[in-house]
Amino acid sequence: MNAVNRIVLIFVLMALVSGCAELDQGLSKGSDILAPRDYVTGKRELNPISEKDEVQQATQAGESILAEARQRGVAVDTDKEMLLRLQEIMNRIAKVSHRTNLPWEVHLIESPEVNAFTIGGGKIFFYRGAFGGLIDPNNDNEIAAVMAHEIGHVVARHTGKSMGQQLAAKISSKAKKSTGGDLYRASYSTLHEDEADKIGVLYMSLAGYDPTDVPGIWARANKKYGSDPKAHNYAYDHSLNEDRFVKTNTLSVFALSYYKGQGVENADYKTILDSNNLTGKKATEEGSGFAAAIKAAADTYTSHVEAKTEEHKRQGQMQQDKLNAQRLSKVTYKMQNTTTGYKGIFGNIQNLSNNVVKNATVTVLYVNQAGKVVHSEDVLIQNLSILPGQSASWSTLLKNVPGSTGIVVQTSDLTW
Ligand SMILES: [Zn+2]
Repeated sequence: MNAVNRIVLIFVLMALVSGCAELDQGLSKGSDILAPRDYVTGKRELNPISEKDEVQQATQAGESILAEARQRGVAVDTDKEMLLRLQEIMNRIAKVSHRTNLPWEVHLIESPEVNAFTIGGGKIFFYRGAFGGLIDPNNDNEIAAVMAHEIGHVVARHTGKSMGQQLAAKISSKAKKSTGGDLYRASYSTLHEDEADKIGVLYMSLAGYDPTDVPGIWARANKKYGSDPKAHNYAYDHSLNEDRFVKTNTLSVFALSYYKGQGVENADYKTILDSNNLTGKKATEEGSGFAAAIKAAADTYTSHVEAKTEEHKRQGQMQQDKLNAQRLSKVTYKMQNTTTGYKGIFGNIQNLSNNVVKNATVTVLYVNQAGKVVHSEDVLIQNLSILPGQSASWSTLLKNVPGSTGIVVQTSDLTW
């Protein structure tokens, strides 16, 4: 069955869940293929891509990623020593995972992005920038943490599932209004990130890498990049760095009972994979194919609702960030004639945060007698370097806004 047919079938299954389509008996055979069991949880989940297609697509996509990098003059896999180290860490972790028989492959791309990623099908990529930018290159446990996280995404088949969840969102009429948003997509991937973190911490511990080194990565990232979702791309799809420190700190405590020492593989790993306090107990009960597929469609809908909850949380966080930015700066101003005869607003903005402020926005609100805003204007103050406690000056021309009787000045945004 090709991807399009699978998607059509999933649409029909989803429609059944929303109660607006007739049941077609002929579909029942499709359910096993459409809703395979999740390797980690044992639960059925909708996945528009078959495993065979997943591996085939990842192999092709992987080859073109590497070919494109080389075409741009970016070296790939040239540091043989580092590559061998990555392969060894990957092999040790993949061996104790729920999906040992994939064609596992890791590549090192010599470019500065602070990231590692997977395209599913066992293909993992590290950018050079991840070493030093995110993880300590001299610490195998930190490399293993990122590797195990990516392996977690592959084992949980997140690449295919996000397609299923986008479909669920489209079909759910309530979701229609907000499905286009980046925030929604980011919220989905945040749930996947949390799952990959859980699986990753478990796998690395079973393979003999110390899980208590994981939270340190996020504490350091928080210090370096802060927790503003806009300030650093890496934080956007993932939990905010501060959150992730707290979460992985808890996970590492749970995982410690499965860690048998540096370089020591846990001999009971097979039993632990089926039941542990990170990914829970693997479900085994066998429902009828069709009922199981309906259940999987319902579960997919549930995870859509979870993503909506996460989206609201994120919206709240972003509003909070805005308020914090206002509290983190103090703006003063006075009106004065300019040298060219116009009236100007001349102000100072003081940095009350603990970070060096690079850009700031001051908003000038023109208000009428009733205090209503009749016009607003943003003054962008860019390429600054205001140290904590220090001030920078700003100015803008006073406009002649009909109906306005005064101005109110606010700071609305700071970035560092
Ligand atoms: Zn991830």
